[in-house]
Amino acid sequence: MHERHTIASEALAPPRGAGPKALGGVMSARPIAMVRCADCGRIDSPGRAVCAGCLSTRLEPASVPGTGRLSTWTTIRRAPTRFRDEAPYDIAVVDLDAGLRVTGRLARGTVPVAGAAVRAVPGDAPYPTFEMAAPSAGRDSA
Ligand SMILES: [Zn+2]
Repeated sequence: MHERHTIASEALAPPRGAGPKALGGVMSARPIAMVRCADCGRIDSPGRAVCAGCLSTRLEPASVPGTGRLSTWTTIRRAPTRFRDEAPYDIAVVDLDAGLRVTGRLARGTVPVAGAAVRAVPGDAPYPTFEMAAPSAGRDSA
């Protein structure tokens, strides 16, 4: 039995105190596709038309290491039509080591642990899929 978390609106805010740090164990994690603003350098999730920082439309493909910490998650039981066949599944909010917060999916069979290290793995969903990065759970300086 494990605790369930609810994704609140604050889940979409930038992570507090996050920033570039040493990237240990990155080799096994799948890079995550993002976009980088050619004008201000901001890195953000793909799919947007303009930079959220400076409104530039010069967004270029980029990627960041697929490692981070599990912030929160929730189980989707009544999925949108396009994902109906896949329910139930877990949606996760992950604070990437690269200093970004992303929403993705937990790989099937994953037992989520809040604050524990995760890594991106190949998945079918049109957004990153994560699993727990075994076996070193726990958090570093918060
Ligand atoms: Zn920009």
